Amino acid sequence: MTGKDGGGTWTSPDNLGQQEQDFDRALRPKSLSEFVGQDRLRANLSVAIEAARGREEPLDHILFCGPPGLGKTSLAFLLAAEMGGDILVSSGPALSSPKDLVGLLTRLERGDILFLDEIHRLPRSVEEFLYSAMEDQAIDVTLDQGPAARSLRLHLNPFTLVGATTREGLLAAPFRARFGIVERLEPYPVADLVAILQRASVLLGIETDFDAADAIAHRSRGVPRITLRLQRRLRDLAQVRKRSSIDLQICHEGIRALGIDDLGLENLDRELLQALIQRGGGQVGLKTLAACVGESEDTLEVVYEPYLLRLGFLSRTPRGRVATRKAFEHMGAELPTRDGDQADLYGRQA
Ligand code: ADP
Repeated sequence: MTGKDGGGTWTSPDNLGQQEQDFDRALRPKSLSEFVGQDRLRANLSVAIEAARGREEPLDHILFCGPPGLGKTSLAFLLAAEMGGDILVSSGPALSSPKDLVGLLTRLERGDILFLDEIHRLPRSVEEFLYSAMEDQAIDVTLDQGPAARSLRLHLNPFTLVGATTREGLLAAPFRARFGIVERLEPYPVADLVAILQRASVLLGIETDFDAADAIAHRSRGVPRITLRLQRRLRDLAQVRKRSSIDLQICHEGIRALGIDDLGLENLDRELLQALIQRGGGQVGLKTLAACVGESEDTLEVVYEPYLLRLGFLSRTPRGRVATRKAFEHMGAELPTRDGDQADLYGRQA
């Protein structure tokens, strides 16, 4: 087994393979009641759905924020199902000019959902073009060019824009303000990940023992997509070892083979911590760190660092990233004797 799945590193969502996309589709919760956890968010959405249904109006525009794999796409799909509409899907990087949006917007029927993933990556011109679509349900299309150019106002069916972003801070304030509902998804506690895994076990017919499910959930960094990826890899191992279920032994063997440790850290996390430790703990800029481990700055910031920060292994300072005392201990490295600023830093983070 390798730590790569569909081209990205183990944890990273980049380049989801076709097989993984198929699984994602098969496992997507079909209704809000099937969506596990995120109780506050579910309660808010349930009120919004009921109110919109009562008024026979489309839902307000919704923005979902949070790291990859937490369920933003699933929510967009289940909202369409809950509202009895269709969903059209695109993403920030796929829409390079306003004219790319015209086809999508004019195909929307009343109450449909337009889901735009990675919405923070929309070019500014496309974003501004969306403003009138979101507010007035109309767009101005330019016909012809040069002196003959004229503008034609097209009225749209009332629709709901659902945006998903891993980088809420990159959205322009006027754009963000046009979403009536903004919800942030949080990493899932272990019990929720176990529930997600058990649901997948039933849907995919993969027997998973409870203690194995618990061990998988503990190594999933709070991210359902990682839980489900691990489960699929372990299913392969259980099959090859001729076991009727994913048991604890299969779980430990498989997880070790994938290079994942007890906390869910993979090789790239360790390389990242090692790069900091080799430099005496820090302080290393993001650019340098990205070059050291061969990942993009964006992926490090969005996918890897949040978990290391949550574990208390990493600290962001104005002068760069720092490995904490806990990180040195986890990596079995000796804490350097220091003076000045950094001694203080280690002292405080002990
Ligand atoms: P995102 O769009 O945030 O990257 P997805 O919606 O694609 O995440 O979710 C990734 C996978 O995890 C999908 O297979 C989805 O079914 C599953 N998943 C995510 N959140 C939940 C949840 N709360 N309950 C059940 N399954 C979930």
